Amino acid sequence: MEIRKLAIPGYEEVRQCFDKETGLHSIIAIHNTILGNALGGTRLWPFENESEALNDVLRLSEGMTRKAAMANLDAGGGKAVIIANQGQKTKGLLEAYAEFVNSFEGLFSTGEDVGISTEDVKIVRKKTPHVFGLHDPSPFTASGVFHGIKRCAKHVYGSDNLEGRVIAIQGLGHVGSNLASLLWMEKVDLIVTDIDKDPMEKAIDELNVTVVAPSKIFSVECDIFVPCALGSILNSETIPQLKCKIVAGAANNQLAEEKHGYELLERGILHAPDYIINAGGLIYVYMEKREDTIRWWNVQQKIREIADTLEEVITVSEKFGEPPQVTANRLADRKIRRAADAQDRSCWI
Ligand code: NAD
Repeated sequence: MEIRKLAIPGYEEVRQCFDKETGLHSIIAIHNTILGNALGGTRLWPFENESEALNDVLRLSEGMTRKAAMANLDAGGGKAVIIANQGQKTKGLLEAYAEFVNSFEGLFSTGEDVGISTEDVKIVRKKTPHVFGLHDPSPFTASGVFHGIKRCAKHVYGSDNLEGRVIAIQGLGHVGSNLASLLWMEKVDLIVTDIDKDPMEKAIDELNVTVVAPSKIFSVECDIFVPCALGSILNSETIPQLKCKIVAGAANNQLAEEKHGYELLERGILHAPDYIINAGGLIYVYMEKREDTIRWWNVQQKIREIADTLEEVITVSEKFGEPPQVTANRLADRKIRRAADAQDRSCWI
């Protein structure tokens, strides 16, 4: 196995690994450990090339630093990518990857993400203690998004009672399907879409939802639009189509560019910053890693605090007349800089 360090300004440690025997080609990026050792999932994806993989891991690890900071966790930000397709994901490759994780000696711990399942994590766990995720974190993410949506509704409509509200969900995967069930229990009118018909048929059977084609989800008449599929879906093409007052969902990096936050603001649409509202899964894995016994009540309590953080960010953003995502970034970076000053450590943030 060959491990190389990559010097990337603004990142504490980035390493690349090649293993001829298993075909492992992976990059781990530790963005910042001022608040604690880095946590971040492992994404397995057939990236077109190495620079695409590197861009992804750098962007995502920075997001993890801010997410942990705003969730008030003593954790830093990291992320890992494995350049492979599902067919190349062998036991040997996962074990070699565990060895790569071990090279960080605990500075980085990891778990599931796109392309890596809880079952894969179990294989990695046999070779390294630096893993988390005994359970699927998605229901916890969904729970945080649910509390966040309620708080956004309170802010915009004066009540967090969602009964009768029309809510449109894009993506009925792990998070979207759990969230749809929580919203259904609140007697919400659900409009959903997915590119896969199986989850939609299940939702029709179980939750009495209205289904629309993926391309139509942006323009449906609704109160709240909930992105739970891909990133960059809020852009100059989709924002003019929106007919909602709130956008609040789990998808990472929803804004294609920072300017799109301003476009939403101009249209009078409240946007919940993604890494704040989707922090429930991270909160769960952090608590699982830190404590010998998971106290479910404490996890739920901390997930509920997402709504308070969200409200704080929205209030400050309105005071400064800026998009909530810009405010969130500013508050997160300030928190990390202050912690760096207190520890007398240099920090590039
Ligand atoms: P997932 O892969 O299980 O679900 C995504 C769903 O979106 C799939 O059902 C897929 O078919 C659908 N989809 C893809 N493209 C679509 C399109 N163009 N239109 C409609 N549907 C489409 O993923 P997930 O774990 O549910 O995560 C959803 C989002 O939330 C991702 O952006 C992820 O990064 C983010 N997120 C997830 C977690 C978590 O705990 N799983 C935590 C934080 C953030």
